Amino acid sequence: MKRFIAVMLLCFAYAALFSISADAQRIENTNPNKQFIPDKSNHVRNEVVVPDFAGYKVLKGDFHIHTVFSDGLVWPTYRIQEAWRDGLDILAISDHIEYRPHSQYMNADRNTSMKIAAPEAEKLGILLVPATEVTREQGVIGHFNALFIKDAELMNLEDPKEALREARRQGAFIFFNHPGWRMDTCVFSPFQKELLEEGLIDGVEAVNGFEFYPRAISWCKDLNITLFANSDAHDPVPVYFKYDRKGAEDVRYRPMTLVLAKDKSLEAVREALDARRTIGSYHGYLIGGFELLEGLFDACVSIEKLSVVGKNTNWQLRNNSSLIFRFNIGGTDYILLPFTSCTLTRTSDITSVEVTVLNMYHYENTHPVFKLELK
Ligand SMILES: [Zn+2]
Ligand SMILES: [Zn+2]
Repeated sequence: MKRFIAVMLLCFAYAALFSISADAQRIENTNPNKQFIPDKSNHVRNEVVVPDFAGYKVLKGDFHIHTVFSDGLVWPTYRIQEAWRDGLDILAISDHIEYRPHSQYMNADRNTSMKIAAPEAEKLGILLVPATEVTREQGVIGHFNALFIKDAELMNLEDPKEALREARRQGAFIFFNHPGWRMDTCVFSPFQKELLEEGLIDGVEAVNGFEFYPRAISWCKDLNITLFANSDAHDPVPVYFKYDRKGAEDVRYRPMTLVLAKDKSLEAVREALDARRTIGSYHGYLIGGFELLEGLFDACVSIEKLSVVGKNTNWQLRNNSSLIFRFNIGGTDYILLPFTSCTLTRTSDITSVEVTVLNMYHYENTHPVFKLELK
């Protein structure tokens, strides 16, 4: 009997051992001296689903991020992998021209981070926008990102206005970074007004990292400049922002600039930025021009008739996107998390309702109100 139990135990132990190593063997070789622990979560892309609309593709971008080649803490290729995992299509690595605290170790040409990142971007299908950040005293001169530059070294000039003029000579698109950072106000300084008058500001960040500047939405409309929502990440992005977008409303998602482009190419991105076709996405909020937000809402939220019961018609509102929508209809608040539906009941004679979208802003602290056809 003892011998029988011993044999059985040996069999169980062997079976357990075999089942542990089975996965590893599927993944790697048959080397009996070394087993690999399978990792099924590694390198998964969290798709951000936003339906295309108005004849444009909706590309997701981050136009402001740093690496070890300025004051960031990560290697350029890692930025590309992060962007891919986060569901992005476009990334602008914008290392500072002037502020390079690691230059004792990383004293390379100012285009180096883009050169290192380019092969990984090509491999993963990320559009890499050549960029840099001109960095001077906040609130007086400020910080500016130049996109689509040809050579960051040529922008290393004493006079910040000359640096931006050089960017312009290279055909760059220039935006004003984090206008309210380290300040309680959000205004243009005299120097920044001069830049505006000279036509050296094409856009502004309404969102930078964890900060949202409502006034910048109004500037985009009033001054006809392009809105951005960017991470400005210096650490690895997951330190501050969640990748997984399937969760609840109160999650700090990575800011994204949604770009309505004719196709997925750098040329199309540039055309879309010049034409001001962007929407900022941040922490469950969506910000931008009224028509763009209306188009986005229509593309993401569909309505269909569920039933007619007596005098009433029951409708189903379905969110077909990874975005979140919070809205008010007739005094009642609704929330549509990604890929969920809610119901709406109205008497059958009602053909439309007004929807105030509470997580959208089309002007400083102003929610858009859309007409929803019940048909
Ligand atoms: Zn900055
Ligand atoms: Zn920055």
